[in-house]
Amino acid sequence: MGIYGDPRAAEQTYLGLYALQHRGQESAGIAATDGACVEHHRGMGLVWSVFADPAVMPRLKGHAAIGHNRYSTRGGSTLVNAQPIVIECRTGTIAVAHNGTITNASQLRREMQDTGSIFQTTSDSEIVLHLVARSRKTDVTEAVMDALKQLVGAYCFVFLTRDMLIAARDPQGFRPLNLGRHGDAWLVASESCAFDIMGAEYVRSVEPGEVIIVDRSGLRSSRLPEAPQKSLCIFEHIYFSRPDSLIFSEKVDKIRRRLGKRLAEDSPAEADIVIAVPDSGNTAALGYARVSGLRYEIGLIRNHYVGRTFIAPHQDKRKLDVKVKLNPVTGVLDDRRVVLVDDSIVRGTTMRQIVQILRDKGAREVHVRISSPPIKHPCYYGIDISRHSELIASEKSIEEIRAYLGADSLGYLTIEGMLSTVDNPQDYCTACFSGEYRTPVPAAFDKYCI
Ligand code: SF4
Repeated sequence: MGIYGDPRAAEQTYLGLYALQHRGQESAGIAATDGACVEHHRGMGLVWSVFADPAVMPRLKGHAAIGHNRYSTRGGSTLVNAQPIVIECRTGTIAVAHNGTITNASQLRREMQDTGSIFQTTSDSEIVLHLVARSRKTDVTEAVMDALKQLVGAYCFVFLTRDMLIAARDPQGFRPLNLGRHGDAWLVASESCAFDIMGAEYVRSVEPGEVIIVDRSGLRSSRLPEAPQKSLCIFEHIYFSRPDSLIFSEKVDKIRRRLGKRLAEDSPAEADIVIAVPDSGNTAALGYARVSGLRYEIGLIRNHYVGRTFIAPHQDKRKLDVKVKLNPVTGVLDDRRVVLVDDSIVRGTTMRQIVQILRDKGAREVHVRISSPPIKHPCYYGIDISRHSELIASEKSIEEIRAYLGADSLGYLTIEGMLSTVDNPQDYCTACFSGEYRTPVPAAFDKYCI
């Protein structure tokens, strides 16, 4: 996220990052400027822990700031890859934070290394700063535009200089970016929930290919060359964004309910109750229950205090991983025929364990319903679904997956059903379901090496 025109810009950014924590839990950082210099702080872990030292925030003074929560799709999860990345170049100090994946990063990096560039990180995000630094344009805004035109793939960027905030969304618009207003300040954030936490007002979605520049003279907007088609990530609505957010000018909650309703129409089940895999399946399960007429019950409780890095003390970690996160509610499942709703299945290992947990607690039948189509292909645009071998649906039929899960029945949404829930279906990327990629994709794609 980014903010310009608030005397407590870094504090507001900190709040925004809290609201956006679900988008990345590996590292966090803020860069802020008071017009004289750009200060920054980054660390590994959740926002609260990165900024726990009371000496940190007072250092981040000024009226403008950018912030980042990292979830890696290119480059390892290390401090050196934490963002914002800050450099000094001909046009001055520039800090950048990136959401997305640049698909021509390896090629650009090789070309630059061949001509002497030295990289600080192994992430694709640093590429853009090299392109800005190499640009022949002397004006920083023009240098940024020049750099962005050379990138292919998914990006939303926020750049911070000593006197300017620049926010950019790629011409296909893969990832969301929103514009907000708080008093005299302008804000941009991946999701509108970041505005809510600070009492800011949602203004609109930043358009695909739009570059927003905010400085002392106010806000202005520029355009990158138009793409032949938009490619908004449908998975943001299915899973990634918070249901209380607006993204792509739509309410996530509304779309997610529609996904559940359509799932109930297409894949009904003879059952007694509907339960969700919390939290990812909650809203779709409400939609499913509404249309099916089945009672919605809370059958699984999620432990919210388990981080991604849970370490099992001795037992088989994989078995304990699910049990420590999800616990069934005694009495709800006893002798019931259960519809279990979740947003997606990647490997299938977690869902298989959940089905077994429900049976152990007395469920008579378990009917698994998924509010997206089978994920069969990797994502190259900023969601960490990186290898065919990790995707159960790339190798197995729906019946084979059902048997693997140990479910009584299994139903997915179709691609057509999924697209029927959004207003402009032609504008959406569906590549991880359909295999129809909307950019050239890299021949070899290794998450940890670009
Ligand atoms: S491939 Fe899937 S996850 Fe990736 S951008 Fe497209 S719809 Fe989203």
